[in-house]
Amino acid sequence: MTRLVLLGPPGAGKGTQAALLAERLGVPAISTGDIFRRNAKEQTELGRRAQQYMDAGEYVPDEVVNAMVADRLAQPDAAGGFLLDGYPRTTAQVEELDGMLAGAGAGLDAVVELVADEEEVVGRLRRRAAVDGRADDDEAVVRRRLEVYREQTAPLTDLYASRGLLRRVDGIGPVEEVTARVVAALDGRA
Ligand code: AMP
Repeated sequence: MTRLVLLGPPGAGKGTQAALLAERLGVPAISTGDIFRRNAKEQTELGRRAQQYMDAGEYVPDEVVNAMVADRLAQPDAAGGFLLDGYPRTTAQVEELDGMLAGAGAGLDAVVELVADEEEVVGRLRRRAAVDGRADDDEAVVRRRLEVYREQTAPLTDLYASRGLLRRVDGIGPVEEVTARVVAALDGRA
């Protein structure tokens, strides 16, 4: 199982789990949010295009994200597999990813949904705002990000479930326990 997608609302722990799982599976963790943040910090053209959307808690337009992911997946380290964190997030992105993978003759192996209720993720993001100072962890922006997730990304779980790819994993609990749950779910033990 090496071509994976991690889904879940902001604050569900995707970034943390993606890093741990990727290391364990020996594939790169590809986080679109991290790539955007790095580009915004370095003030690249891509960063400038993404920043206003990120700051408002809105999604960056599909064509910008899709082009960036196509580029990243074409790099040699992704040839043997990858773990996508934060992509796809819209049905248009799902179709685009399907196309990229079909072009390479390889489909997804599984889609892991980290499940966490809204009260929990809001609390986590409030703590992260105090520690990391991420502008989009501001309370009003967090509310908007959760709304956008509900409207645009939550429906993807049904879509992937209908393909038999979805593994739902409880995202609440100590980091290493959640990792163990994901590994078990991927092994078909949960
Ligand atoms: P994240 O770190 O995954 O929460 O992403 C931070 C922000 O980057 C999001 O709120 C969006 O503005 C933007 N972003 C990341 N991934 C995507 C994506 N797949 N589609 C659209 N916008 C994205």
